[in-house]
Amino acid sequence: MDFKKYIQIVENYPKEGIRFKDITTLMQDGAAYKAAIDEMAAFGKDKEVDVVVGPEARGFVVGCPIAYTLEAGFVPVRKAGKLPREVISVDYGLEYGKDSLTIHKDAIQKGQRVLIADDLLATGGTIEATVKMVEELGGVVVGIAFMIELGYLDGRARLDQYDLFSLMTYN
Ligand code: IMP
Repeated sequence: MDFKKYIQIVENYPKEGIRFKDITTLMQDGAAYKAAIDEMAAFGKDKEVDVVVGPEARGFVVGCPIAYTLEAGFVPVRKAGKLPREVISVDYGLEYGKDSLTIHKDAIQKGQRVLIADDLLATGGTIEATVKMVEELGGVVVGIAFMIELGYLDGRARLDQYDLFSLMTYN
């Protein structure tokens, strides 16, 4: 499937100079959303995934259906202050900003096999922070799946020791 035809590019959003890739136009098409999730889940199929970890909010939109397909658990990574129980946290830099991410301390057991999923790889800051927390909890990152990779920001270079998959790449 030509997934790119379902992505809308929004100029200068959320800031001047950013060409925002909007995945909501893909999600709102049932066949395209299913095909995209199926391909991302196929990447995780032989990896014996125990849990899928996805950062809010669009990481939920891709991570939850992948987890369901793989019959794996799902663990949310959220911005500071959003998770109700004890968390560990890490600061990270975004393509356009800075923030801190958190995960429940008991969300991943030592040795569990983790697939990380998100909508988009830009600088790699979000996923690098997510990997750090997963590994701090003792999880083994067996793969990282994106719907979109922005090749020109080279986030892949920060994650080069991991098995990466992206459905679409923009250069
Ligand atoms: P990174 O941490 O720089 O790799 O940024 C990735 C995060 O920023 C992802 O979780 C995305 O949701 C968000 N993001 C950055 N650029 C875009 C975009 O063009 N479209 C949609 N989300 C974006």
